[in-house]
Amino acid sequence: MKPYQFCLSCNKELEGRSDKKFCDAYCKSAFHYNKSRDDTGSFYLKVDRQLKLNRKILKKFNKAGKATVISQVLLSQGFNPNFFSHYWKNSSGDVYLFVYEYGFLSRLENGKEKYILVTWQPYMEKSLLL
Ligand SMILES: [Zn+2]
Repeated sequence: MKPYQFCLSCNKELEGRSDKKFCDAYCKSAFHYNKSRDDTGSFYLKVDRQLKLNRKILKKFNKAGKATVISQVLLSQGFNPNFFSHYWKNSSGDVYLFVYEYGFLSRLENGKEKYILVTWQPYMEKSLLL
């Protein structure tokens, strides 16, 4: 006895060859179209989730408005420095990466990688507009 097969697109019971996955070409293309759309959506959600997590972590470790933290401490909480919303360069050329209003700059201090944490300041906005 062959098991019942259902179309992956419309869930209708399939007849004929047991290796069939779709009732017809239309169902097949509809399925692949929706699948690729979902993949795009999940990438958006993935980035969105990482940005929110990064912001939460930066906020947690930067209660005073400025702080220096060993990078590994943030990374162990799930912080991913590749995900940020914008950057700001100071007059000495240091590039601070920002996750919304929380910024970080990676620095090597005594052989340990650290993040200098800052918060977004109104004067930074002015320098972006100049
Ligand atoms: Zn179908």
